[in-house]
Amino acid sequence: MVFGFIGLGNMGAPMAANLAAAGCELIVYDKAGTAERAPEGATQAASVAEVSAAETVFLSLPDGAVVAAVAAEIMASNQRRTTAVIDLSTVGVEAATSLSAELGAVGVNYCDAPVSGGTAGAKAATVAVMFAGPAELFEALAEPLQAIGKPFLVGGQAGQGQAMKLLNNYLSATAMAATSEAIAFGVEQGLDPTLMVEILNASSGQNTATGDKFPNRIIPGKYDAGFTNTLMTKDLELYLAGVQGAGSAKRLSEPLVGLWRDFLAAEPDGDFTRIYPFVKGGE
Ligand code: NAD
Repeated sequence: MVFGFIGLGNMGAPMAANLAAAGCELIVYDKAGTAERAPEGATQAASVAEVSAAETVFLSLPDGAVVAAVAAEIMASNQRRTTAVIDLSTVGVEAATSLSAELGAVGVNYCDAPVSGGTAGAKAATVAVMFAGPAELFEALAEPLQAIGKPFLVGGQAGQGQAMKLLNNYLSATAMAATSEAIAFGVEQGLDPTLMVEILNASSGQNTATGDKFPNRIIPGKYDAGFTNTLMTKDLELYLAGVQGAGSAKRLSEPLVGLWRDFLAAEPDGDFTRIYPFVKGGE
């Protein structure tokens, strides 16, 4: 079976490489240049239409608008043999629901399967894959999904993977912002950032920012998580839209989204770990 893969960016390139390394036959495409991004051994397509010759197509694209445009190209292609689109992108609940309806109408099963674990997890094939779709398809795709990371079947309804992913990123963004404020306060008090992080990791304040982002990317001054504040703010906007739509609690999420919007405006497309110098007041 040949798998299609569209979008070979920070996440897509290593995930496609892991599929290829696991022995999956691939046809891949990225509009910014396929040759530079394609994994070894994969067939390089010149268009989305060419990829639509594959029965199952994975997507790793920036947002819902881009996925909708690519999905339209797949639907319009006269080379199309695609019957399943597995969308690894973060697009939000609403976009996933409408993509499922549109593709479903032409006999293509759209499953949202957003991932979490960053570029390091994408390379190490440890990302959580939050798959929403038919259980039979999830089982049939066990091999490629396991080549990408750790697959979870979150439900049968389109958008449920997105809901899971967005609430996860809300927590990740909260940890980054709150830890940045806490460390900035500690620095003001004359505490050493490395020691603070070590103590937090042995204490109840431990979280994903203290466990990974601060020791590995912020304190060494690398700011190289490979996840931009553009994408994180997009995820938070989608989370807030979902929360507003559902009428659930948002007392913390509203001001948090405001903070990330301000950070994005100050440093457009910066690495999301730069929230620390932003919160601290510039560095
Ligand atoms: P990216 O911008 O690095 O990659 C997106 C790729 O899609 C680019 O290479 C771009 O050229 C390509 N592309 C855009 N439009 C296209 C089109 N019309 N046809 C073909 N290719 C097209 O983004 P990323 O960081 O790899 O993120 C991809 C998705 O994964 C996003 O939805 C993001 O929110 C999500 N995500 C990212 C991370 C991370 O740490 N970077 C973690 C989890 C989830």
